Amino acid sequence: MKFQTVTGLVPVETVGLADSHAHVWIAPQDGVAPDVRIELHDFDRIEAGLRDFCALGGTLLVDCQPGGAGRDTTQLAALSRATGLFITSTTGFHRRIYYPPDDWLWSATEDEAVAYFVEELIIGTRESGGTIRATTIKIGYDDTIEGQTRVLMEAVAEAARQTGALVLFHTEAGRNVEALPPFFAERGVSPSRLYLCHVDKRPDVGLHRELAQAGVLLGYDTFARPKYNPEQNVWKLLPALVADGLGEHIAICLDLAFPEQWEQYGGGPGLRFLPTQVLPRLRADGIEEATIARLTGGNIARYLVHQSHQE
Ligand SMILES: [Zn+2]
Repeated sequence: MKFQTVTGLVPVETVGLADSHAHVWIAPQDGVAPDVRIELHDFDRIEAGLRDFCALGGTLLVDCQPGGAGRDTTQLAALSRATGLFITSTTGFHRRIYYPPDDWLWSATEDEAVAYFVEELIIGTRESGGTIRATTIKIGYDDTIEGQTRVLMEAVAEAARQTGALVLFHTEAGRNVEALPPFFAERGVSPSRLYLCHVDKRPDVGLHRELAQAGVLLGYDTFARPKYNPEQNVWKLLPALVADGLGEHIAICLDLAFPEQWEQYGGGPGLRFLPTQVLPRLRADGIEEATIARLTGGNIARYLVHQSHQE
Protein backbone atom coordinates (compact mmCIF):
# COMPACT_ATOMS: atom_id res chain seq x y z
CA MET A 1 0.00 0.00 0.00
CA LYS A 2 1.27 3.43 -0.96
CA PHE A 3 0.11 6.97 -0.38
CA GLN A 4 0.74 10.16 -2.30
CA THR A 5 3.20 12.77 -1.06
CA VAL A 6 4.32 16.03 -2.70
CA THR A 7 7.30 14.15 -4.13
CA GLY A 8 5.59 10.93 -5.19
CA LEU A 9 4.12 7.68 -3.87
CA VAL A 10 5.48 6.29 -0.60
CA PRO A 11 4.95 2.79 0.88
CA VAL A 12 3.08 2.85 4.21
CA GLU A 13 5.80 0.71 5.84
CA THR A 14 8.48 3.38 5.31
CA VAL A 15 6.72 5.77 7.70
CA GLY A 16 8.21 6.04 11.17
CA LEU A 17 7.54 9.05 13.36
CA ALA A 18 4.97 11.48 11.91
CA ASP A 19 3.24 14.71 12.86
CA SER A 20 -0.25 13.88 11.62
CA HIS A 21 -1.51 17.47 11.62
CA ALA A 22 1.32 19.80 10.70
CA HIS A 23 1.82 23.20 9.14
CA VAL A 24 4.94 23.39 7.03
CA TRP A 25 4.24 26.55 5.03
CA ILE A 26 1.59 29.28 5.16
CA ALA A 27 2.01 32.00 2.52
CA PRO A 28 0.81 35.53 3.36
CA GLN A 29 -2.80 36.10 2.34
CA ASP A 30 -3.86 39.53 1.13
CA GLY A 31 -7.34 40.47 2.27
CA VAL A 32 -7.37 38.25 5.38
CA ALA A 33 -8.07 40.08 8.67
CA PRO A 34 -4.83 40.75 10.61
CA ASP A 35 -6.08 38.97 13.76
CA VAL A 36 -6.48 35.64 11.94
CA ARG A 37 -3.60 36.01 9.47
CA ILE A 38 -0.90 33.38 9.97
CA GLU A 39 2.43 33.57 8.15
CA LEU A 40 4.93 30.74 8.10
CA HIS A 41 7.19 31.15 5.08
CA ASP A 42 10.85 31.58 6.06
CA PHE A 43 12.35 28.74 4.03
CA ASP A 44 15.65 28.54 5.94
CA ARG A 45 14.08 28.48 9.40
CA ILE A 46 11.46 25.94 8.35
CA GLU A 47 14.11 23.76 6.72
CA ALA A 48 16.16 23.89 9.96
CA GLY A 49 13.07 22.86 11.97
CA LEU A 50 12.40 19.94 9.65
CA ARG A 51 16.04 18.84 9.81
CA ASP A 52 15.84 18.76 13.60
CA PHE A 53 12.74 16.59 13.38
CA CYS A 54 14.47 14.23 10.91
CA ALA A 55 17.54 13.93 13.13
CA LEU A 56 15.27 12.72 15.95
CA GLY A 57 13.54 10.10 13.78
CA GLY A 58 10.84 12.19 12.07
CA THR A 59 9.73 10.85 8.68
CA LEU A 60 6.38 12.43 7.70
CA LEU A 61 4.47 15.69 8.03
CA VAL A 62 0.81 15.99 7.04
CA ASP A 63 0.44 19.60 5.90
CA CYS A 64 -3.07 20.88 6.60
CA GLN A 65 -3.26 24.18 4.69
CA PRO A 66 -5.61 23.91 1.69
CA GLY A 67 -5.22 25.82 -1.60
CA GLY A 68 -6.30 29.48 -1.46
CA ALA A 69 -5.60 29.65 2.28
CA GLY A 70 -1.81 29.98 2.13
CA ARG A 71 -0.81 26.55 0.82
CA ASP A 72 2.19 26.41 -1.50
CA THR A 73 2.89 22.87 -2.66
CA THR A 74 5.98 23.97 -4.62
CA GLN A 75 7.57 25.06 -1.32
CA LEU A 76 6.42 21.83 0.37
CA ALA A 77 8.11 19.82 -2.39
CA ALA A 78 11.31 21.90 -2.15
CA LEU A 79 11.40 21.39 1.64
CA SER A 80 10.75 17.68 1.24
CA ARG A 81 13.65 17.37 -1.24
CA ALA A 82 15.96 19.48 0.94
CA THR A 83 15.33 17.41 4.09
CA GLY A 84 14.25 13.94 2.96
CA LEU A 85 11.03 14.21 5.00
CA PHE A 86 7.83 12.95 3.38
CA ILE A 87 5.19 15.70 3.21
CA THR A 88 1.57 15.40 2.11
CA SER A 89 -0.60 18.33 1.02
CA THR A 90 -4.33 18.92 1.09
CA THR A 91 -7.02 20.24 -1.22
CA GLY A 92 -10.46 21.14 0.12
CA PHE A 93 -11.25 24.24 2.13
CA HIS A 94 -10.57 25.90 5.48
CA ARG A 95 -12.86 28.20 7.50
CA ARG A 96 -13.96 31.20 5.49
CA ILE A 97 -12.06 33.65 7.74
CA TYR A 98 -8.79 32.38 6.25
CA TYR A 99 -9.67 33.52 2.71
CA PRO A 100 -9.76 36.90 1.03
CA PRO A 101 -13.42 38.09 0.82
CA ASP A 102 -13.63 37.61 -2.96
CA ASP A 103 -12.16 34.08 -3.11
CA TRP A 104 -13.91 32.09 -5.86
CA LEU A 105 -14.50 28.98 -3.75
CA TRP A 106 -17.00 30.82 -1.55
CA SER A 107 -19.33 31.38 -4.50
CA ALA A 108 -18.49 28.17 -6.41
CA THR A 109 -21.17 25.67 -7.38
CA GLU A 110 -20.95 22.14 -6.05
CA ASP A 111 -19.86 20.86 -9.49
CA GLU A 112 -17.09 23.45 -9.77
CA ALA A 113 -15.81 22.54 -6.32
CA VAL A 114 -15.90 18.79 -7.06
CA ALA A 115 -13.93 19.35 -10.29
CA TYR A 116 -11.34 21.43 -8.42
CA PHE A 117 -10.87 18.96 -5.55
CA VAL A 118 -10.64 15.93 -7.86
CA GLU A 119 -8.23 17.73 -10.22
CA GLU A 120 -5.90 18.54 -7.30
CA LEU A 121 -5.98 14.92 -6.10
CA ILE A 122 -5.51 13.10 -9.40
CA ILE A 123 -3.65 15.62 -11.59
CA GLY A 124 -2.07 18.22 -9.34
CA THR A 125 -2.50 21.42 -7.40
CA ARG A 126 -3.25 24.70 -9.13
CA GLU A 127 -0.14 26.54 -7.88
CA SER A 128 2.12 23.69 -9.08
CA GLY A 129 0.61 23.83 -12.57
CA GLY A 130 -0.79 20.35 -12.06
CA THR A 131 2.54 18.71 -11.21
CA ILE A 132 2.16 18.03 -7.45
CA ARG A 133 -0.77 15.99 -6.18
CA ALA A 134 -2.74 16.65 -3.01
CA THR A 135 -3.37 13.64 -0.75
CA THR A 136 -6.25 14.65 1.55
CA ILE A 137 -9.38 16.81 1.30
CA LYS A 138 -9.76 19.31 4.12
CA ILE A 139 -12.98 20.67 5.58
CA GLY A 140 -12.97 23.74 7.83
CA TYR A 141 -15.92 22.80 10.03
CA ASP A 142 -17.35 25.38 12.46
CA ASP A 143 -20.10 23.17 13.92
CA THR A 144 -23.00 23.51 11.50
CA ILE A 145 -23.57 22.22 7.98
CA GLU A 146 -25.15 25.16 6.22
CA GLY A 147 -24.72 27.85 3.56
CA GLN A 148 -21.68 27.62 1.29
CA THR A 149 -20.00 25.29 3.81
CA ARG A 150 -22.76 22.80 3.05
CA VAL A 151 -22.25 23.19 -0.72
CA LEU A 152 -18.51 22.59 -0.28
CA MET A 153 -19.09 19.64 2.05
CA GLU A 154 -21.36 18.03 -0.55
CA ALA A 155 -18.53 18.56 -3.05
CA VAL A 156 -15.97 17.01 -0.69
CA ALA A 157 -18.21 13.96 -0.21
CA GLU A 158 -18.45 13.51 -3.98
CA ALA A 159 -14.69 14.00 -4.45
CA ALA A 160 -13.96 11.50 -1.65
CA ARG A 161 -16.32 8.98 -3.24
CA GLN A 162 -14.61 9.39 -6.62
CA THR A 163 -11.03 9.23 -5.35
CA GLY A 164 -11.10 7.32 -2.04
CA ALA A 165 -9.15 10.17 -0.42
CA LEU A 166 -9.13 10.80 3.33
CA VAL A 167 -11.30 13.74 4.48
CA LEU A 168 -9.41 15.79 7.08
CA PHE A 169 -11.50 18.05 9.33
CA HIS A 170 -10.60 21.15 11.21
CA THR A 171 -13.15 21.08 14.04
CA GLU A 172 -13.76 23.84 16.55
CA ALA A 173 -12.56 21.90 19.58
CA GLY A 174 -14.67 18.92 18.50
CA ARG A 175 -17.97 20.82 18.50
CA ASN A 176 -20.82 18.85 16.91
CA VAL A 177 -18.57 16.23 15.35
CA GLU A 178 -21.45 13.78 15.90
CA ALA A 179 -23.11 15.25 12.80
CA LEU A 180 -20.24 14.29 10.50
CA PRO A 181 -20.29 10.46 10.19
CA PRO A 182 -24.05 10.38 9.36
CA PHE A 183 -23.74 13.21 6.79
CA PHE A 184 -20.97 11.36 4.97
CA ALA A 185 -22.48 7.89 5.33
CA GLU A 186 -25.66 9.17 3.62
CA ARG A 187 -23.45 10.23 0.72
CA GLY A 188 -21.58 6.96 0.41
CA VAL A 189 -18.42 7.94 2.30
CA SER A 190 -17.42 5.47 5.02
CA PRO A 191 -16.40 6.65 8.53
CA SER A 192 -13.00 5.09 7.76
CA ARG A 193 -12.43 8.00 5.32
CA LEU A 194 -12.95 10.65 8.04
CA TYR A 195 -10.13 12.18 10.09
CA LEU A 196 -11.39 14.50 12.83
CA CYS A 197 -8.74 16.90 14.14
CA HIS A 198 -8.56 18.88 17.42
CA VAL A 199 -11.09 16.54 19.04
CA ASP A 200 -9.05 16.03 22.23
CA LYS A 201 -10.16 19.58 23.14
CA ARG A 202 -13.48 17.83 23.86
CA PRO A 203 -12.24 14.85 25.88
CA ASP A 204 -15.52 12.95 26.19
CA VAL A 205 -14.35 9.32 26.38
CA GLY A 206 -17.77 7.88 25.45
CA LEU A 207 -17.96 10.01 22.32
CA HIS A 208 -14.39 9.18 21.29
CA ARG A 209 -15.02 5.47 21.82
CA GLU A 210 -18.13 5.62 19.64
CA LEU A 211 -16.36 7.49 16.83
CA ALA A 212 -13.34 5.16 16.93
CA GLN A 213 -15.56 2.07 16.91
CA ALA A 214 -17.30 3.46 13.82
CA GLY A 215 -13.89 3.58 12.09
CA VAL A 216 -13.07 7.29 12.25
CA LEU A 217 -9.46 8.50 12.79
CA LEU A 218 -9.18 10.93 15.75
CA GLY A 219 -6.45 13.60 15.74
CA TYR A 220 -5.08 14.55 19.19
CA ASP A 221 -2.88 17.63 19.33
CA THR A 222 -2.97 19.27 22.78
CA PHE A 223 0.11 17.54 24.27
CA ALA A 224 2.15 20.75 24.19
CA ARG A 225 -0.75 23.13 24.89
CA PRO A 226 -0.99 23.91 28.65
CA LYS A 227 -4.18 25.91 27.95
CA TYR A 228 -5.99 22.62 27.30
CA ASN A 229 -4.65 20.96 30.48
CA PRO A 230 -3.09 17.90 28.80
CA GLU A 231 -2.48 16.06 32.10
CA GLN A 232 -6.17 16.05 32.98
CA ASN A 233 -7.45 15.62 29.45
CA VAL A 234 -5.51 14.09 26.55
CA TRP A 235 -3.21 12.07 28.84
CA LYS A 236 -6.31 10.43 30.35
CA LEU A 237 -8.31 10.12 27.12
CA LEU A 238 -5.55 8.50 25.07
CA PRO A 239 -4.73 5.60 27.46
CA ALA A 240 -8.47 4.97 27.95
CA LEU A 241 -9.01 4.51 24.21
CA VAL A 242 -5.85 2.38 23.89
CA ALA A 243 -7.03 0.18 26.79
CA ASP A 244 -10.28 -0.37 24.85
CA GLY A 245 -8.26 -1.67 21.88
CA LEU A 246 -8.97 1.46 19.84
CA GLY A 247 -5.36 2.57 19.40
CA GLU A 248 -5.64 2.13 15.64
CA HIS A 249 -7.98 5.12 15.47
CA ILE A 250 -5.80 7.83 17.00
CA ALA A 251 -3.19 10.01 15.32
CA ILE A 252 -0.82 12.11 17.41
CA CYS A 253 -0.09 15.64 16.19
CA LEU A 254 1.33 18.99 17.29
CA ASP A 255 -0.43 21.41 14.89
CA LEU A 256 2.35 24.02 15.02
CA ALA A 257 0.80 26.66 12.75
CA PHE A 258 2.21 29.76 14.44
CA PRO A 259 5.86 30.83 13.97
CA GLU A 260 6.10 31.39 17.75
CA GLN A 261 5.62 27.63 18.17
CA TRP A 262 8.85 26.98 16.22
CA GLU A 263 12.24 27.08 17.93
CA GLN A 264 13.81 28.37 14.70
CA TYR A 265 11.61 31.48 15.01
CA GLY A 266 12.76 31.93 18.61
CA GLY A 267 9.76 30.15 20.16
CA GLY A 268 8.69 26.62 21.03
CA PRO A 269 8.02 23.78 21.63
CA GLY A 270 8.99 22.88 18.04
CA LEU A 271 8.57 19.57 16.25
CA ARG A 272 11.20 18.01 18.56
CA PHE A 273 8.51 17.91 21.28
CA LEU A 274 7.11 14.80 19.60
CA PRO A 275 10.26 12.63 19.85
CA THR A 276 11.64 14.17 23.06
CA GLN A 277 8.46 14.55 25.16
CA VAL A 278 5.52 12.63 23.72
CA LEU A 279 7.32 9.38 22.82
CA PRO A 280 8.98 8.89 26.24
CA ARG A 281 5.69 9.70 27.97
CA LEU A 282 3.80 7.06 25.93
CA ARG A 283 6.46 4.53 27.01
CA ALA A 284 6.28 5.66 30.63
CA ASP A 285 2.51 5.17 30.52
CA GLY A 286 3.11 1.53 29.64
CA ILE A 287 1.77 1.60 26.10
CA GLU A 288 3.25 -1.19 23.94
CA GLU A 289 5.86 -0.29 21.31
CA ALA A 290 3.70 -1.57 18.45
CA THR A 291 0.81 0.64 19.55
CA ILE A 292 3.12 3.64 19.99
CA ALA A 293 4.35 3.14 16.43
CA ARG A 294 0.75 3.24 15.19
CA LEU A 295 -0.23 6.29 17.23
CA THR A 296 2.79 8.25 16.03
CA GLY A 297 2.89 7.31 12.35
CA GLY A 298 1.46 3.94 11.35
CA ASN A 299 -2.18 4.97 11.66
CA ILE A 300 -1.97 8.16 9.66
CA ALA A 301 0.08 6.42 6.94
CA ARG A 302 -2.59 3.73 6.55
CA TYR A 303 -5.47 6.25 6.44
CA LEU A 304 -3.64 8.39 3.85
CA VAL A 305 -3.84 5.56 1.31
CA HIS A 306 -6.69 6.28 -1.10
CA GLN A 307 -9.13 3.42 -0.64
CA SER A 308 -9.96 3.13 -4.30
CA HIS A 309 -6.29 3.23 -5.29
CA GLN A 310 -4.72 0.60 -3.07
CA GLU A 311 -1.58 -1.00 -4.42
ZN1 LIG B 1 -3.97 23.16 11.95
